[in-house]
Amino acid sequence: MKKLYTCIFAVFIASNSPAQIPVNNPIDTTDVELVKAVDFLRSYLNEFTAGHIPEYSKYWSAEDCKEYRQPDQLVNGITPECPVYRIGEPDILYARPENGYVHIKTMFAWVDTNSKVSVMSITNHYIQQDENKLLRFISPFRIGGKDWNTTASGNITYHYPPYHRFDEKKAKMLARQIGTLERDWDLKPIKIRYYFADTKDELDHARGFDFTVAMGNRDKPSGMSDDADNIIYCGGLGENYFHEVVHIYLNHHYQQSPMREGIAVFYGGSMGHELFWHLRRLNTYLQQHKNIDLDRLSDDFYYMDNFTNPFTTITGMLCLDAYNRNGLAALKRMMDYTSLDDLIEKEYKVQKGNWNEFLRKMIDDNSRAKQN
Ligand SMILES: [Zn+2]
Repeated sequence: MKKLYTCIFAVFIASNSPAQIPVNNPIDTTDVELVKAVDFLRSYLNEFTAGHIPEYSKYWSAEDCKEYRQPDQLVNGITPECPVYRIGEPDILYARPENGYVHIKTMFAWVDTNSKVSVMSITNHYIQQDENKLLRFISPFRIGGKDWNTTASGNITYHYPPYHRFDEKKAKMLARQIGTLERDWDLKPIKIRYYFADTKDELDHARGFDFTVAMGNRDKPSGMSDDADNIIYCGGLGENYFHEVVHIYLNHHYQQSPMREGIAVFYGGSMGHELFWHLRRLNTYLQQHKNIDLDRLSDDFYYMDNFTNPFTTITGMLCLDAYNRNGLAALKRMMDYTSLDDLIEKEYKVQKGNWNEFLRKMIDDNSRAKQN
């Protein structure tokens, strides 16, 4: 799915010019508190230009800046590859005073040449004066997640809505998986903040979104990890979303690897299902679509349906194959490659141009392996 978003965003990324951000519902210009808050948000959003993010201490409380390297949990809410404020052009929908702060709702959207509006996100910001009379954002989670519960288990601190009964067994299972991962990869324990709810939409709402382009379609377990602050957000899999934990542990060590998603799928499955489930679906799909050319995997076949991602399934399969051939040593070697072309050529002696036949056969073989 990540690849799909990247392609969409290549079209929707906002321009770099700090234009005056429009306001949909006129702000009462005599209401100094509202006017100042809107100017504060405008100035913040205008600082998100290509390759640049603002100095957070100018906008966020000392408390939030101490707790997080990136206190704004909206920024990577759609994809870690592009700040949410640069995906579409902003339009401030309204600003209103509430409970001692100003609440501002902003829409980020794109209008094409046929006047078709594509909404990318609708965000909520809460602004209040601190003790030094400086305006600062309050994290939406401090407001939306006020009644959430917290349970610490091993190195994980779980945060979850009040309707959920904490499942100790699932937390212990995750702790065991983490223990094995740390031992096998010689990794030091990492303290992780783990936010979960029954659905990802609920989490997005708690983070401050009314809407993102990633919402919609049938619910499925899904998650996101934030490497900067070791935070996991996941919906639908409760206390045991190992896939995202693998990202937290391994992403830092393999920044350039094309297998970062594959290794997480190998260990923790994807979207609530293990790798074999995806391989079987992918195999069936490919047999029904003979025209798909896996030589053009990254360009033409990055999306299959709402439940299986072909690219991550295939890279997960390559991890599985390496592990089956030569255990952990081979798996670790796979992670050291910085391009998939190089990996397939060196590991399998297969040149680009012959990937379609090679990968189709490998998918077919591996999707049957567990059934036999
Ligand atoms: Zn992932």
